[in-house]
Amino acid sequence: MKIDQLYKLFEESYLIDTDTRKIREGSLFFALKGENFNGNSFAISALENGAKFAIIDELKYHTHPNTILVPNVLETLQSLANFHRKKLNIPIIALTGSNGKTTSKELINAVLSKKYKTTATVGNLNNHIGVPLTLLSITSTTDIGIIEMGANHLKEIETLCKIAEPNFGYITNFGKAHLEGFGSVEGVIKAKSELYDFLRENDGIAFVNYDDPIQIIQSEKINSIKFNNEIIQFIEANPFVKVLFKNTEIESNLIGKYNFNNIAAAISIGNYFNVSLNKIKEGIENYTPSNNRSQIIERGTNKIILDAYNANPSSMSAALENFNQLKASKKVVFLGDMFELGSESLIEHQKIADLVSSYNFNEVYLIGKAFSTTSAKNAFIYDSFEAFKTSTLTLNISHATILIKGSRGMALERILDFF
Ligand code: ATP
Ligand code: MG
Repeated sequence: MKIDQLYKLFEESYLIDTDTRKIREGSLFFALKGENFNGNSFAISALENGAKFAIIDELKYHTHPNTILVPNVLETLQSLANFHRKKLNIPIIALTGSNGKTTSKELINAVLSKKYKTTATVGNLNNHIGVPLTLLSITSTTDIGIIEMGANHLKEIETLCKIAEPNFGYITNFGKAHLEGFGSVEGVIKAKSELYDFLRENDGIAFVNYDDPIQIIQSEKINSIKFNNEIIQFIEANPFVKVLFKNTEIESNLIGKYNFNNIAAAISIGNYFNVSLNKIKEGIENYTPSNNRSQIIERGTNKIILDAYNANPSSMSAALENFNQLKASKKVVFLGDMFELGSESLIEHQKIADLVSSYNFNEVYLIGKAFSTTSAKNAFIYDSFEAFKTSTLTLNISHATILIKGSRGMALERILDFF
């Protein structure tokens, strides 16, 4: 079936489903494949549950008048999304980078939605499936689309750009995340810059943080809206980040100096799209993070900065630097392993161990296999969360400010049970 014919079927409901447990009446079901499942085998049950058509790519499941056989379901979904995108005559802003994509996306959305009807990536659906699904959720009433793009290999951002055809882009930073897939920091820079390459070739506009020399180089020869610490000033992060823009103080609910860039990007983008200063302020000040991303939790006399959503060398050092600057009489740090660092893992963990030792925190706990190979001055080191748990029945910590940070797989939010 040709894409324009499939598009006609999509126009009947504008609903796409990929999970048979959550089928909406009249939707198109796309039988995607995963490591442990083959959507083709669920096609009939999707139709029984209310889907109008099921898009499949294995002949043996083509047993119903409403199954549509295509060469590759994923590629068909991506082509349909691109077909839809081409019909939408609206600005699409794409975001990528090593850290802070979701936070920036949420902030940009908080600001732009003060003036426009926006459609933004839900949660973290930022990959080769999430991006097309987000695009297909954009309706004719949407004024601006905001699309998060994640990648852990070269060419992924390029592919996502070809699907989403963004006219605007923002790269949060070039950091040390997913080194395993990219090979090196140079690999990260190249991969993320695929968004800049797309904008350069397609007359797009980039929002560029001019305080970062790598960004200046990478964004050469692109139409860009520049911002830096003179245009949007950092005031403090104590613990919440406060900034000054056009003589107006904006106080966010975000902790960590690294969030300054995320906020600055949202302000710059809001300003470009003519959101009034008051509305920009309101959008930023009303946004509170969730999902273990830089949340502050009060437990008894302790104040806990829970940043257990993910971690990599750049976000870890940023968090530690920031924690070091905080004014508090007693500081305790719990760090969990950073995953996906490949052959750099032990070196990077040792660097973090050195960094944390260089600050005079009152107590330091390092948890995980990689951290257990490091040496750190005066730190308690455990080779797994279980080991930490077994040897720590209760923690005798009070009147302290506490930082908890580690990769998602470490699920360090479990430490909260000890308080
Ligand atoms: P993912 O790759 O999981 O999609 P992401 O890029 O969307 O991650 P966020 O979810 O916004 O990133 O933030 C994750 C963590 O990264 C935060 O909790 C914080 O520790 C760190 N972080 C956020 N912004 C920055 C930044 N600009 N620079 C460095 N670290 C950051
Ligand atoms: Mg994200």
